[in-house]
Amino acid sequence: MIYIHIPFCRSFCIYCDFYSEIPHCRDRENEYFEAFAEAVSLELMQRKGEFSAESPNTLYIGGGTPSVLPPSALSTIIDAIKANGINTSFEEFTVEVNPDDIIHGGEYIKSLSDLGVNRISMGVQSFDDRILRWMNRRHDAETAKKAYAMLKEQGVGNISVDLMFGISGLSDETWKKTLEQALSMPGGLPEHISAYQLSIEPGSRLNEMVSEGKYLDAPDEQCRHQYAMLCDALHRAGYEHYEISNFALPGKRAIHNSAYWSGSSYLGLGPGAHSYDACRKVRTWNRASLADYLAAGDFSGLRESETLAPEQSDIEKVMLSLRTSDGISAAELERIAGKAQVHEMLRLGNLEAAVNAADSAKTKSSETAEPRLRIPESRFFISDSIIASCLPG
Ligand code: SF4
Repeated sequence: MIYIHIPFCRSFCIYCDFYSEIPHCRDRENEYFEAFAEAVSLELMQRKGEFSAESPNTLYIGGGTPSVLPPSALSTIIDAIKANGINTSFEEFTVEVNPDDIIHGGEYIKSLSDLGVNRISMGVQSFDDRILRWMNRRHDAETAKKAYAMLKEQGVGNISVDLMFGISGLSDETWKKTLEQALSMPGGLPEHISAYQLSIEPGSRLNEMVSEGKYLDAPDEQCRHQYAMLCDALHRAGYEHYEISNFALPGKRAIHNSAYWSGSSYLGLGPGAHSYDACRKVRTWNRASLADYLAAGDFSGLRESETLAPEQSDIEKVMLSLRTSDGISAAELERIAGKAQVHEMLRLGNLEAAVNAADSAKTKSSETAEPRLRIPESRFFISDSIIASCLPG
């Protein structure tokens, strides 16, 4: 798996704390983007030894806003991947886009397809213009619908749409309309929907607004109710709820993200990108500085790392696995949490047998017949406290 972080946005959304910068040199922008693509290519060349023998099966270009990059810069990166002996016929090749970058012409979409992109993840967040303005998103609801229709018309067969709930200004009625719009998109249902509860991240504009008394977090009861509305609407539309925040039509689970949740290795390129070596249990990350990244000749100087102790690794495994409907091996959870605790969680109904684990997952976990345990979907909303109860100590 390869992840490439594109650290550019045209504007900043108030809730976001991802590392990103707004390019301010419009007249020389393409040169700037090309220099960035060359830097990614150089980092890839320096780190190709970190790949396992097999070629990676997924490529995920995220950000930031990757659709800010012109196709020529993306092409430079893809050429570098090929030049380093990696097969670019990825099983899943995702690019994150902003609807506003899509509607300017079908040519852009065609360029993505020509580069091998076979999945688009589009940040929509809401179909209510008042909420979108409050978030400082640069598109409106009509633009999102138009962009989606254009993607479908151009034959993109795998689209993921991001939505957001649990905002104090978001009434149940408005959330219901957003869900209805998401499920009646021109061109058919999105193959995948990710829906996140708004969280107040340190470093975001929203966090400052909280400190300034300009925003009050949504009540827990509102968040719980809107999450239940989400689960109900998507179930009825035929989606599989395979991770706390993720829903897929049959056979359309996100392969790349599923591999994160199952603890697989991945290589992250770009400023701020994280990598993980599952064999050695080593996590590395690049310094989140575009200026340093562009100036680096040797990228190892930008990287920090930590080796996970066995206890940390166990904790991560529980935290990631129990987010999913495939859950965790029962024997593994008993080893980590203790048999008595697991039995108590089963008695309370906070865990159940993961009976459908082999249905449609493409994760390693689903290929084994060993008994597995998971959090029932009806308790996903309180998963944080259930997971905390399953951790050692
Ligand atoms: S949510 Fe996306 S578009 Fe908005 S600031 Fe964050 S990375 Fe940029």
